[in-house]
Amino acid sequence: MPELPEVENLRIGLIKAIIGQKIKNVKVQKPKLVSGKGTLRSASEKKKIEFIRGIKGEQFVDIERRAKNLIFKLSHGKIILVHLKMSGQFVYKNKIQSKLISGGHPIELSEKELPNKHTHVIFELENGTLYYNDTRMFGYLLYYPNQKSFEVENHFINYGLEPLSKDFNLKYFKKELKNKKGKIKAVLMDQKIVTGLGNIYADESLFEARIRPDRNSSSLSMLEVENLYKAIIRIIRRAVKVGGSSVATYRLLDQTRGNYAREHKVYGKAGKLCTHCGKPLAKTTIQGRTTIFCPRCQK
Ligand SMILES: [Zn+2]
Repeated sequence: MPELPEVENLRIGLIKAIIGQKIKNVKVQKPKLVSGKGTLRSASEKKKIEFIRGIKGEQFVDIERRAKNLIFKLSHGKIILVHLKMSGQFVYKNKIQSKLISGGHPIELSEKELPNKHTHVIFELENGTLYYNDTRMFGYLLYYPNQKSFEVENHFINYGLEPLSKDFNLKYFKKELKNKKGKIKAVLMDQKIVTGLGNIYADESLFEARIRPDRNSSSLSMLEVENLYKAIIRIIRRAVKVGGSSVATYRLLDQTRGNYAREHKVYGKAGKLCTHCGKPLAKTTIQGRTTIFCPRCQK
């Protein structure tokens, strides 16, 4: 599943590829994906028609990001909200340079054949075609005719602050952590204090701050909270800069693999040696997620 740095890189790549282009035609092969979110949604022909009629003829104006959501801004104030979830992918094929660029979950078939059996939405643009592919179909693309209809749904009501925003400061982090119960890793991942921290960046931040992931969050000293805060900012900033982690399920828009994976110190490294003390890293499970840490360095 792509995390914040990967989605941010996808956003930057898509901006270069599609902004300013007009949507000449739209095909929706699986109406379920534009009919709502969550596991209970079902395909709606009405939603499909609304989606197509709403965006056909409009232009891509901007792409914003909130946590792992992409917000496509179209002309006339129209909006498409996209979440790739576990296995969504965008591929843009430029017809002039016949260049293929993709971001999201790597789907091998998409490199050979487009559209393919995983292609569910096709945007025909002036200079190329944008494909939304999704192997498991948990992702969604929701259409809103204007800003107001988008805001009414309060998509981001339970989200905490963006880790790279000015509002996410030490004072805020200290205050929020004090009010939360539970293991520190679970608290970091529940998105209510800070958004976009998933399994990779939670493990890496806790290692960098030398804090055990199973510590109760309220037991952290002021100094530990400060170290953790600094570690989160440093790690997310670095990961965005080098293109994200692109572990097995993520590939950058220009087909290169993200370089942050090379800098992982604990994530995916159970049994390997700690870069700090040289002893083997340990593995545990927190809230159903594999968690790697160093039992010597992290207290
Ligand atoms: Zn160690």
